[in-house]
Amino acid sequence: MAIGDELVGGFTLDTNSHWMAERLRLLGYPTKRVTQVRDRPPEIIEQLRRELEDADVTDIFLSGGLGPTPDDRTFAALADALGKELVIWEETRARIERRVQRMHSMGLLESPEVTEGNLRMSRIPAEPAHVFRNRRGMAPGAIYETHGKRIFVLPGVPMELKGIFTEEIEPEFLTAGSAATVRELRFMFAVEARFYPLMRELEGTFPDISVGSYPNFETKELVIRVVGLDPKRVEEALDVIRRRAPK
Ligand code: ATP
Ligand code: MG
Repeated sequence: MAIGDELVGGFTLDTNSHWMAERLRLLGYPTKRVTQVRDRPPEIIEQLRRELEDADVTDIFLSGGLGPTPDDRTFAALADALGKELVIWEETRARIERRVQRMHSMGLLESPEVTEGNLRMSRIPAEPAHVFRNRRGMAPGAIYETHGKRIFVLPGVPMELKGIFTEEIEPEFLTAGSAATVRELRFMFAVEARFYPLMRELEGTFPDISVGSYPNFETKELVIRVVGLDPKRVEEALDVIRRRAPK
């Protein structure tokens, strides 16, 4: 779930969700749905409840709204949804303080004092299962465990999100997946609609495989993408398509 008025308002493209969906697929954690919501706690809470109640969902990723400004409300909404108190998390506060002092000594900040805004970023729902270090920024991000699921809370700044994801989440928390096999066939000048009967048939004969058709109007190619957990089954489906593709 990507959180931010700028995303829903069409100002900023939600590249975080796109990037995470790809990484998660490659790591064997396929994404069920991607959502964007505004910086409004009731709307964040509503979507969170939906994800928590969905039996198919095991991990929830939140991006954005952790910053120092009053329009960043993700943790407050999460506290509400989980029925937890917002507390100043000491480890995070100390890290922010060290960061402010370091930035001050480098001449990047005027004052070595932690501001109200800085302090706000260390107010998170108690008790997180894990708090990230975030080498690239102040908003730390954290993991919560509830309803048998994990909620990963990440900052919206793409560089920070990617850093935490690849350095802190992937090696420690996303090691149990097995990636799906993805194979593509390309047909020049193919008419998508003519693939319909074959694709319908494959739905029945290969229920374990997903077959999608994606026309590319620039290259005039039709891409048929076959995805499945068992590489042998993916090859079998691919063979059927090769043999039977409409001419
Ligand atoms: P920080 O504390 O570092 O500011 P934050 O969690 O508060 O992080 P936001 O304030 O929500 O993050 O967003 C910071 C920047 O990242 C903004 O420029 C925002 O447009 C951009 N951003 C936020 N979410 C996304 C997203 N899903 N995809 C791409 N850019 C995003
Ligand atoms: Mg924001």
